[in-house]
Amino acid sequence: MNVIDVSSHNAFVPGEVELEDDKLRLIEERNRLLGPAYRLMYQKPLHFVRGEGVWLYDPDGRAYLDTYNNVVSLGHCQPDVVEAIQQQVATLCTNTRYIHETILELAESMLATVPGSDLSHMMLTGSGSEANDLAYRIAQVRTGGTGVIITEMAYHGITDAVSKFSATLGQGVPLGAHVRCVRAPAGYRYGPNTAERFQADVEAAIADLQRHGIKPCMLIVDTLFTSDGILPEEAGFLKGAAEAIRKAGGLFVADEVQPGFGRTGDTMWGFQRHGVDPDIVTVGKPMGNGQPIAGLLTRHDVVEQFGKSSRYFNTFAGNAVSCAAAAAVLKVIKRDAIMDNARDTGAYLLSKVEALRDKHENLGNVRGAGLFVGADIVTDRETGGYDPKRATQVVNAMRENGVLISIAGMYHNILKIRPPLVFTRENVDLFVDVLDQALESSNG
Ligand code: PMP
Repeated sequence: MNVIDVSSHNAFVPGEVELEDDKLRLIEERNRLLGPAYRLMYQKPLHFVRGEGVWLYDPDGRAYLDTYNNVVSLGHCQPDVVEAIQQQVATLCTNTRYIHETILELAESMLATVPGSDLSHMMLTGSGSEANDLAYRIAQVRTGGTGVIITEMAYHGITDAVSKFSATLGQGVPLGAHVRCVRAPAGYRYGPNTAERFQADVEAAIADLQRHGIKPCMLIVDTLFTSDGILPEEAGFLKGAAEAIRKAGGLFVADEVQPGFGRTGDTMWGFQRHGVDPDIVTVGKPMGNGQPIAGLLTRHDVVEQFGKSSRYFNTFAGNAVSCAAAAAVLKVIKRDAIMDNARDTGAYLLSKVEALRDKHENLGNVRGAGLFVGADIVTDRETGGYDPKRATQVVNAMRENGVLISIAGMYHNILKIRPPLVFTRENVDLFVDVLDQALESSNG
């Protein structure tokens, strides 16, 4: 055992913690080799060597219940996806400069998930950040504007352009002068009329951009407002805001990197819960169940001028192996009725977490859509005071007891519960027992 200052590699509690010698050595190697920009999660960082289904295993064979994974959304090492990757990588891996069927098969399947919309093209990228970067480039050409409207704790990625509209990167990463933030549509905190309030906020941001001589280009939102604290209610509240940005000559971009691919249960995409038709939909994370693939869906008229003026080539994006993985993901979602599970097991999870409020005064508002649940940790329910310290204790206590979750929101007090979509009721029962204990111990 050794003691290390974890402030440089811990997202939650700066301070001192005892770590095993092996782990300490690996962390020091990471810092030496990867430099200072990386972060590890949890007060006691984790080291994994294997994953299967909803479980992750450390070098001693200890299993951790993964309740924080929307990348391997179908579970770790999902066999159909593994097989699709293995077969394709052993056959051919080329790029979009050659004709290949897999990307076409994938595009057909992706576009079939947005029936009734005019979204008719799929473009691929290597990451969600690149997808939003490309969306912004396309939107600038389409609208002739540059102004971007986001929510106050939005995260959209890390490229130079996108980091300027990723508020959650913090003070050290400045927002662009062409970017305006609006309050997160947290109806449960700010009172009723979420739709009207959100629309009014967007309209005020549009007016402010125009007042500064900046032409509005796009309103971009994560349709489940994940980093703002998971804000699903009331479904439908995005409509007015989307109309407002269009009226001002801008586009409405739905960032589906977190809510997409069936997570919300009732619909494949978060925007479909709201009954809006985005001009561009960006996708990523779960698309390849771990294989790096992301992209966007858009209408022909939106991308027409961009296509004429810019050639688009992205070396790894659209390679046959990633496309095979993504095609397999869509097949499994359908074959295994993954959305039904997200809806039913999600409802069960939500009800069980809600039920803990009877026992724990510090558990404030609980809400969710499908297998995505947000739960506020508050000083007391009367005032709803934020309690980030207790939230951090809960997350770290759960990690000690073998269950992984994280934190979201402006005040770092919201438990972010986001299991793989193959989570079972049995997994929920275990999860809720461990959450119950962690809430109990945070009182001590
Ligand atoms: N948009 C949202 C909503 C995200 O959550 C993320 C990643 N957390 C991104 C975009 C960026 O995706 P990537 O990390 O693949 O670049």
